[in-house]
Amino acid sequence: MNWTVHTCPIDDNLDMRAEFLVRSRQYEFAVVRCKRCGLRMVNPQPPADILNSFYDTEYYGKQAVKFIPLIQYLRRLSIKKKVRDIMSRQKREFGKALDIGCADGSFLFNIKQRQWDTAGLEISPTFQKNSHLEELNIIIGDLADQHIPDQTVDVVTLWHVFEHLDDPNRYLREIKRMLAPGGLVVLTVPNSDSWQAKLFGQDWFHLDVPRHLYHYTPSTIAKIIAPHGFQIEGIEHFSLEYNPYGYLQSFFNRVLRDDNRFYDALKNIRSIRPTTFWRNIICALLTPILVIPAIIMAWIEAQMGHGGTIRVYIKNTGS
Ligand SMILES: [Zn+2]
Repeated sequence: MNWTVHTCPIDDNLDMRAEFLVRSRQYEFAVVRCKRCGLRMVNPQPPADILNSFYDTEYYGKQAVKFIPLIQYLRRLSIKKKVRDIMSRQKREFGKALDIGCADGSFLFNIKQRQWDTAGLEISPTFQKNSHLEELNIIIGDLADQHIPDQTVDVVTLWHVFEHLDDPNRYLREIKRMLAPGGLVVLTVPNSDSWQAKLFGQDWFHLDVPRHLYHYTPSTIAKIIAPHGFQIEGIEHFSLEYNPYGYLQSFFNRVLRDDNRFYDALKNIRSIRPTTFWRNIICALLTPILVIPAIIMAWIEAQMGHGGTIRVYIKNTGS
């Protein structure tokens, strides 16, 4: 299979400016920017087998336990807050939620406790053994293989999934079809227009090439959803879960050439890369010193409308 040069998914333009190359394992990936709309992307896109090799068990963590216990605990708090935030935007008390890229189903599990119907899609077979699959109506597979009836879903969520999709328009079309009138789409993505993205360039933690194929901004999100009859209702620029860590790990990448190894240690996985012990110790010692400045920076960039990751609330406008 070949690496495919593709046009911009927003305007079908082929005129792109090369920004930089990212080396990962034995490959080099080019990050380019569309000269017409400004969308950044990996182009050419690697063939599926190479891309899939970057989603091995190393990515999801050992036995699908993604993080060490303290971080797991913080993650649980954050999921409960996500559910509260979405509920506060709902006029209806009950409905149906679809989580695309639902991983272990934690978000759906929490929304089900509010008596909502749930459905989930997860492409990775890593989660096949999840005991809640049936109860939460999670299907392991691709969107195209599923048959969720037209206009039956009230809330569609994509938590750090949209930037991974090789054909975002295909997903937007399907979401549009399934979404009930007045439905809500909530997606989170790294913000390529954030201060941390600009400061750290190719060392930026949330760049995550080649898993992140597109690098969105509020403006390019607005452009890609508009032709599908969607409109941005609101954007949140601060995430305690993601944004301060973006500063911390990007700093380690820049200064210690850490290449996200500390993140691997937090995920409780054994990196396949060379010895990391001393580098991890240095990162662990620096973390308590740097965590407060990282939170402050993440907060300030968010106040200025340039958050490291963004949560976008999208409403269904067209018929
Ligand atoms: Zn474009």
